Amino acid sequence: MKKLILLLAGIIIISVATAFVVNETLHSHDVSDRSVDYKKQLIELSTVCKSLECQVIADFNRFNKNEYQNNIEDIAESIRPIINYQNGPKIGTAILNIALQDGDLNEESQLLVLDKIATLRYKDNDLYGMIDPSLKYIDIAHESGDELKVATGEFSLALIITYFKGYDFANKIINSIQYKDSSDEWKKLKTRATLSLAENKLAINKPKKALDLLENVDQYQAAYNEEDWRDYHVYLLSLRAEAYDEIGLSEKANQCLMLAQVELEKDKVSLLLDKHILIKIIEFKLALKNENYSLIENKKEELLKIADRTNQIRFTKLVYSTLFDYYLKTNNTIEFYNLNKRYNAVRDERQSASYHLLISNKLKQSENSHLNEDHQQSLLFLKIAFVILLVISSLLLMMVVKIKYLNIETYTDPLTRSLNRRKFMIDYEGIAQKDHAFLILDIDGFKAINDSFGHEVGDEVLEKVAREIALILGNHHKCYRIGGEEFVVLFTLIEPLDCIELAEDIRRSVENLQWNHDLKVTISGGLSFSGKEKNTYKLADELLYNAKRTSKNVILNDSIY
Ligand code: GH3
Ligand code: MG
Ligand code: MG
Repeated sequence: MKKLILLLAGIIIISVATAFVVNETLHSHDVSDRSVDYKKQLIELSTVCKSLECQVIADFNRFNKNEYQNNIEDIAESIRPIINYQNGPKIGTAILNIALQDGDLNEESQLLVLDKIATLRYKDNDLYGMIDPSLKYIDIAHESGDELKVATGEFSLALIITYFKGYDFANKIINSIQYKDSSDEWKKLKTRATLSLAENKLAINKPKKALDLLENVDQYQAAYNEEDWRDYHVYLLSLRAEAYDEIGLSEKANQCLMLAQVELEKDKVSLLLDKHILIKIIEFKLALKNENYSLIENKKEELLKIADRTNQIRFTKLVYSTLFDYYLKTNNTIEFYNLNKRYNAVRDERQSASYHLLISNKLKQSENSHLNEDHQQSLLFLKIAFVILLVISSLLLMMVVKIKYLNIETYTDPLTRSLNRRKFMIDYEGIAQKDHAFLILDIDGFKAINDSFGHEVGDEVLEKVAREIALILGNHHKCYRIGGEEFVVLFTLIEPLDCIELAEDIRRSVENLQWNHDLKVTISGGLSFSGKEKNTYKLADELLYNAKRTSKNVILNDSIY
């Protein structure tokens, strides 16, 4: 039944997604959205800005509309110092959009501005927001008739698709770019595209293919001045290090990484975002191979923080998989378990964020009423990518739900819905070495109840007693049914007197339960507190045995208080 519901939910999600895309595709002509009021946004931001951010806003406000065109490069550059500030990307995006809307900019300037807006949105973790300026860029590039610009725009679009993990798809777009001549500008685009292709090959576990591509990048070096080339070279070397490592050539990997680090120190320009992050991550990965565990310990928190907020899901995967391997290699199950929890939380958060954004329908922000054919094709490509993404996410979600459901079933006793013995064994192992108290409970004279009233009434008693225990424990402690009519409660982080009181509450409440039959149900128990070399399970069981031998309907404990 539950499987059926899951299947239906999946089908509904996929149908809605398909309907959404078909609708979007058919109506993409009249998509027009001018709802974002950047001037208002900038005023709002100026009430919360830090001093340097406020300075940038004030500088921009000094310009008149008719001065935007002549000063556009300065305006764009003025944002660079605040790009890593909290509101920096938002302030930059607002400023450039205002310039774009009011400035009567020429084509060249519009392209510059759109490119910067996309970068700022990337910095602001707004991947969906990058789509709109990229599409506009392609549109204007087409109008200008400049093939290099069109290709640059298409390449940017491909990059965005990689951020959504569409690595294969992005590579198809990059490979379809026609390189028209061998001028320096085309060569530069080719370098950038080749690095991306290689990076995507690494993301889909094809390190040999990545390496083939990376071997050829050097031939474009002549197109660059020294500083720009270093910028690319750092990235190139770190990608090579990663590829070598993947195919098992650790020595070469280490050499490339070291070179990359040296180059990074001399590096002054930063056309390529995030290359310093890539280097750190590769260093981290290689440290595991080199058994440099102290580096891993020193860097792990910093890198996890980066991994949790980077736009590059590939980076997240690299950091986490390195740490998972590390904990496996060092047999650190507790940290492995904690990391797994953290990873799941990050993944869930990202998934819900992408759903949220999909629903908010960012695609509608494409502010264009006359899309030409090529542009429409790009839009269609993107939409297909979104559907694929949505379908994959739905399937993943279904899997997660299913796994959770399976977990629940594996660890739940079907009759009483308490946790079962299997779960008890796992949890007890987890707390046995820590401070805890162990309460074992057993229904008195249960065999006689079965014998006199039948098995069904016996079952009803079990259910009702389990429910009563759960009610008293609330969400703070768990109850396990570990045998026929035996239950266990594991207390952690609780005072002995509180434990005794809770156990007494349980005993009394069961005694006072009302029954349809002429029944009197009581329970006995043993409550043992952990201490040096103490086996609480065994001791609680002995206390229970004593309780049964004496009066029953009593809970004995070994508290020293
Ligand atoms: P004491 O007071 O010493 O605990 O005696 P008791 O009769 O409760 O204990 P005993 O261990 O002799 O009997 C437990 C009975 O519980 C025997 C078994 O048939 C019954 N039982 C075990 N599982 C279930 C179940 O799922 N449903 C029902 N109705 N009875 C069960
Ligand atoms: Mg019993
Ligand atoms: Mg028993």
